[in-house]
Amino acid sequence: MAAPERDPACLFCRIIAGEIPASKLLETDEAIVIADINPQAPVHVLAIPRRHIPSAAHLTAADAQTLAGVIDAANTVARERGITATGFRLVMNHGSDAGQTVDHLHVHLLGGRVLGWPPG
Ligand code: AMP
Ligand code: ZN
Repeated sequence: MAAPERDPACLFCRIIAGEIPASKLLETDEAIVIADINPQAPVHVLAIPRRHIPSAAHLTAADAQTLAGVIDAANTVARERGITATGFRLVMNHGSDAGQTVDHLHVHLLGGRVLGWPPG
């Protein structure tokens, strides 16, 4: 069954709808990019599909265009913030072990400093 386009109780759906304020850095047909409210690096933004998909575990081949749009939006902001040459990390958390706190798919773009590996 296809994911619903919007969950009225979802924080990121509400940000996308303009019901909750956020620092929106980019808006495209497929995605928005917002500043993370609790940044973990000099550049820490979230690329979020407009469609409500709960997490990466819910993605299928049918979501290819949406996912490509999310990555493209993250890449655009990485270039704008000047971290493409120095490097960055894209992260998707799924579930409690990974620390997912918002159940609407999002890609963290982290950069602007050396990032440790493996992540905690
Ligand atoms: P995750 O733990 O992967 O689900 O990531 C959720 C992220 O959303 C965290 O990094 C939070 O700091 C961030 N976050 C939560 N609420 C907001 C908000 N209102 N605006 C921007 N970022 C938020
Ligand atoms: Zn949502």
